[in-house]
Amino acid sequence: MTREQVDSAYVQQLLASIESSPTPYHCVSESARRLDEAGFVSVDRTQSLPKGPGRYFRVDGGSIIAWMVPAKPDRFTVVGAHTDSPNLRVRANADLENASWAQLGVEVYGGVLLNSWLDRDLGLAGRVSLADGSTVLFLDDRPILRIPQLAIHLDREIRDKGLKLDPQTHINPLWATSNTEATFRSYLATQTGASEDDILAWDVMVFDTQPPAIVGLDSDLIASARVDNQLSCFAALDALTSLTLETAAPGAIQVLALFDHEEVGSESATGAAGSNLSSLMERIATAAGLGRTDYLEALTRSYVVSADCAHATHPNYVDKHEPNHHIAINAGVVVKRNANQRYASDAASEQPFRAACAAVGVPVQTYIHRNDLPCGSTIGPATSAQLGVRTIDIGAPQLAMHSARETTGAIDAAYLRNCLASVWRTV
Ligand code: ZN
Repeated sequence: MTREQVDSAYVQQLLASIESSPTPYHCVSESARRLDEAGFVSVDRTQSLPKGPGRYFRVDGGSIIAWMVPAKPDRFTVVGAHTDSPNLRVRANADLENASWAQLGVEVYGGVLLNSWLDRDLGLAGRVSLADGSTVLFLDDRPILRIPQLAIHLDREIRDKGLKLDPQTHINPLWATSNTEATFRSYLATQTGASEDDILAWDVMVFDTQPPAIVGLDSDLIASARVDNQLSCFAALDALTSLTLETAAPGAIQVLALFDHEEVGSESATGAAGSNLSSLMERIATAAGLGRTDYLEALTRSYVVSADCAHATHPNYVDKHEPNHHIAINAGVVVKRNANQRYASDAASEQPFRAACAAVGVPVQTYIHRNDLPCGSTIGPATSAQLGVRTIDIGAPQLAMHSARETTGAIDAAYLRNCLASVWRTV
């Protein structure tokens, strides 16, 4: 692999997209902007779907679904990913005062590597519900929060026992000395331009303000927040917007489903375990002129690719990986297999995916978790169970999954985009 293999323009757009998307709502807003720019038509969540061929998208909170309808559809080819990443979220009664500091109380969202949030320059972003019924997104990338680690002189056990963090007491960020006159509500009023009394509720999240970067001696690695899973969201979106009704596989309705709440098990109105996708797919079929039976028959010919990150082999912890299934960075997209169905892939669902990868020269690696460690999961099994459609779990390899700053490969990012575009062109 060489620096020449990095698709720099694509990687720069990927980094810019992740930087502008510190929350699922921002990821959806950025995705909607790109779809709109590519000529996809926005459909309101509550309105009837447009009839006939075309390219459309629908926003629903932290989830967005885009689709392309050909003249005579008979199946769906779905690519799924998730917009959420583990992080810290500001509580409802947010203001804390401790030992001459003003702090914000936070909840832990998903499987956060808490240590990775220490001693970073943190900002705030999210959505705020106002009394007039509107919802405002805001993004404040000033480094206004810190979670300082305890000095080594005050933590004498750290050398023998390692760092231990209590999620209730050790991770509340500080943002000012207690001399401040600001409250979290007054801060939100400034950010949204609303009066304090008009602020009803919020989903506000902490994020690392350090921008994503190209790193490594050969400039072929990426260090960034939210690689899991905005890397897949962006790759899939870029693949979809590169297609037209003429270049996509004839007869297939191409669907891009970006779900929220994967990091907490996908069971929500906008998560992969809900009816979000299946009900929209049935409405898409109906709007395209298919009856209920046609729709159910279309499902039997359909295919789902669930794109989420995979674990690359960590050179300092090689023994944590299955010794016959090592995964290298910048060496190809990863098919994830698990006999216990933590991943949905099987021999049948690998077939079309491997063919699509071969068609565009994308190498494929296979990940299998060790038997003596519990395996994570993703949206593949939930989507597959909801739809009854053959499904494969794949993804780009990365290190430090769920860290505030993860590491992945710039060449893999392009491999992922290329293989997903190939799936939509051929399946
Ligand atoms: Zn993920």
